[in-house]
Amino acid sequence: MFSPTIVPKIVTPDIKKLCKDLTGCSEAYFVDVFSKPGAIRNKCALNAKGEAQEKNGNVIFGWSIFVWEKVLVQFIGHAIVEADGKKYCVTPAKHGESKILFIPDPAITFNYDSESSRLPSKTLPISKQKVVHQLIAVQSKLFEIKSKYPVTSGQLLLVGDDAENVRELENEQQKLMNRIIYLHHPIKANCSCGSGKQFRKCCRPHMKREYG
Ligand SMILES: [Zn+2]
Repeated sequence: MFSPTIVPKIVTPDIKKLCKDLTGCSEAYFVDVFSKPGAIRNKCALNAKGEAQEKNGNVIFGWSIFVWEKVLVQFIGHAIVEADGKKYCVTPAKHGESKILFIPDPAITFNYDSESSRLPSKTLPISKQKVVHQLIAVQSKLFEIKSKYPVTSGQLLLVGDDAENVRELENEQQKLMNRIIYLHHPIKANCSCGSGKQFRKCCRPHMKREYG
């Protein structure tokens, strides 16, 4: 699925404000990602713990920050390592990013002994548009369902009604995202589908029919 959220290039005032709302602190910082051999995606707490034990360092819990410019900020619970005076991440990033934006949060805890222990996830709006709030509500329902299952780095094996509900919510999510893209995408900028064509000459006309 196409996702417009990316690692921010800089810490904008919007991001700063939302960091403060969420953690009481606004000091987000970039850390390098050195994906450790054997480190598993989605298991950052375990990866960080292994590295910290090896290097005699500490695990720092907090949030990894992704932004959809002018729309929303996504905070994904995350664990990094502090060792030899350096802070870094050892978990392979979703899109292979070599740097992530991180904000520590001492309020986050993790139970290493439980298979379903999962770090939290939180999305906060930048835009005041209703459609953005609807998207966030759908995503939080999805997270709630997925939280019942053990953490995996692959596809979740959903059972019973969950499979159907997740399918519906994901469809709904995609529609809301498309509407937001339609509303926010500068018409002369390159289309986000990656075609290299201008948005107005590529995906915009059929998006207008469906989401305008
Ligand atoms: Zn396109």
